[in-house]
Amino acid sequence: MEFTDRILKCNDCGAEFIFTAGEQLFFHDKQFKNDPKHCKQCKAKRVRGGPRVRPETRTTCSECGSETTVPFKPTQGRPVLCRSCFQKQQGTPIPAPQAAKAQQAALESAEVAEAEPIPEPS
Ligand SMILES: [Zn+2]
Ligand SMILES: [Zn+2]
Repeated sequence: MEFTDRILKCNDCGAEFIFTAGEQLFFHDKQFKNDPKHCKQCKAKRVRGGPRVRPETRTTCSECGSETTVPFKPTQGRPVLCRSCFQKQQGTPIPAPQAAKAQQAALESAEVAEAEPIPEPS
């Protein structure tokens, strides 16, 4: 199958861009049914402004009703607490885990000059 360069129009900015024979061959190989809809610039913009690595969901705290973001998708029916309400429910404020662990490690093994990198609690 022969491919020739085609001129397509960007859906976002309306600029014309070339859908090269090579790209068409790639699309054909991948069995993509649709032509590309965006020029290179808009595609780059989309990637940069795309979904974040950490998913954040805007939700309302079921305790105080204030808006908060959570790093997970809240399950229907399960209460979602904001940070301060979560701490209140735990009874004690959560200490900075890194500092506490580093201190403990320093006490336990004074010989070790450099503490192991402590993984962030998830
Ligand atoms: Zn564009
Ligand atoms: Zn709250």
